[in-house]
Amino acid sequence: MARPPVLAQGRAYLAIPGPSVIPDAVLNAMHRAAPNIYAGELVEMMPGLLADLRRVARTRHHVAMYIGNGHAAWEAALSNVIAPGDKVLVPATGRFGHGWGEMASGIGAVVEILEFGRAAPMDMGRIEARLREDRGHEIKAVLAVHVDTSSSVRNDIAALRGVLDATAHPALLMVDCIASLGCERFEMDEWGVDVMVTASQKGLMVPPGLGFVFFSDKAAEARAAMARVSRYWDWQPRAQAEEFYQYHGGTAPTQHLYGLRCALDMIHEEGIEQVWQRHAVLARAVWAACEAWAREGGFAINIAERDCRSHAVTALRLPAPGATELRDWVQTQLGLTLGVGLGMAAPGDPAWHGFFRLGHMGHVNGHMILGMLGGVEAGMRALGIAHGKGALDAAAEVIAGGEFIRV
Ligand SMILES: *Cc1c(COP(=O)(O)O)cnc(C)c1O
Repeated sequence: MARPPVLAQGRAYLAIPGPSVIPDAVLNAMHRAAPNIYAGELVEMMPGLLADLRRVARTRHHVAMYIGNGHAAWEAALSNVIAPGDKVLVPATGRFGHGWGEMASGIGAVVEILEFGRAAPMDMGRIEARLREDRGHEIKAVLAVHVDTSSSVRNDIAALRGVLDATAHPALLMVDCIASLGCERFEMDEWGVDVMVTASQKGLMVPPGLGFVFFSDKAAEARAAMARVSRYWDWQPRAQAEEFYQYHGGTAPTQHLYGLRCALDMIHEEGIEQVWQRHAVLARAVWAACEAWAREGGFAINIAERDCRSHAVTALRLPAPGATELRDWVQTQLGLTLGVGLGMAAPGDPAWHGFFRLGHMGHVNGHMILGMLGGVEAGMRALGIAHGKGALDAAAEVIAGGEFIRV
């Protein structure tokens, strides 16, 4: 019996905004017998790992590691500086600000959300007005998301620091870089960030399972002033471990540490500035294609302004149920998995099937991005989804141009 061809054989490609593609070198580094956790290579590896993590975050200050995902890092960071009854301000630009705020509520914080919708960055004017109103300095921390992975907006963290400085407000600046670290420029010290959280499975190219909390001396002082901090989340022994087990609050995440070692070597061999450049160019190829598709039919890019778009993820819309049909088609026909929409419509709402996202974070290169875009184009043709022409030409033009981009 003749059957139509299915073109999904070959290496599958997970183009979702995390977990991201894991380099073979990282997988290979993890594939080993259980190492000794009392002496030897693994134990000796820790100071170098922490130093190389700090280089990615552009900080001279402190970092604590946790066995956990991004949610764990959220809770860890909050647990060190926020006590029940403390007030936190959350400027929300998508799902993840709300998520961090919910975590803060869970440990007893009084959470105030400044809502900026799902398609725009923070409005610094509104934040400034709110901070000026807070004459008694009740707000203990501002919880900001650098790249909101649901809306794909990128917020200007340096500008947010500027607002705190302009209002002389002492609140801690806490930033979620889970989607952005290792993809977008982030300057912890230069931008005056007090606490930064991230996780292993996005720009850091390691499987999910490690969370990281970076903190400044000011944040360490806030920690020291707390009446009590949960022993497990306490960043102090993890950042200044005297015994190996203290780095991890127990048994080390052995294989993950080897994966992380390899991923950090890859990042620093390429150079962090070059990593940012690569993501900037690849994002522009994605945008060029999406802007062409959006010229006809119902294809739409969630974030209108290029300056406010993430270099790691792009949130998109099609008339429902086009997005779900497209994801299904490229998955079954091409072995390409695209991201579902997040926080744009409730699952169960027919509108949910109109949202999707392209992940382009971490271990991605030109041919992967061109292949992903080609897959989307083919899918829309196969499904009869109306779209503008010339998307692949436009993306190829960006890749061919290879220009330096100020990030
Ligand atoms: C992925 C992500 C999270 C959540 O991380 P988990 O590892 O899924 O817990 C939080 N914030 C942002 C911005 C993210 O992209």
